[in-house]
Amino acid sequence: MIKYTSKINKIRTFALSLVFIGIIIMYAGIYFKTNFLIMTIFMMIGFLATLSSAVVYFWIGMMSTKAVQVVCPNCNKITKVLGRADACMACNQPLTLDKNLEGLEFDDQYNTRKGMKKLAKK
Ligand SMILES: [Zn+2]
Repeated sequence: MIKYTSKINKIRTFALSLVFIGIIIMYAGIYFKTNFLIMTIFMMIGFLATLSSAVVYFWIGMMSTKAVQVVCPNCNKITKVLGRADACMACNQPLTLDKNLEGLEFDDQYNTRKGMKKLAKK
């Protein structure tokens, strides 16, 4: 069975990796300190990556206020569901808010209108 990760967790992981990428790029810039221009470019890109991670963190904060809080039937912990189908943040149990999707195999396509149409044709 494929493991599903909660969307909020996925985006958090992405934001965290952006911070590390940013730091690595800025660190790499130090090796070019003989060339001021290249060093500045590295520093700028690294700084932008770190900055965009802050934006992503802010965005996920906004998203989680809109997410629906549910109690996971698998681990009984409170988790947040984003969109029509999502996974539990603690145990990755696939969860759905749509009664029509209950008992069906979890699919990321359930979250888009286009995907729903495609699946309805099946
Ligand atoms: Zn759970």
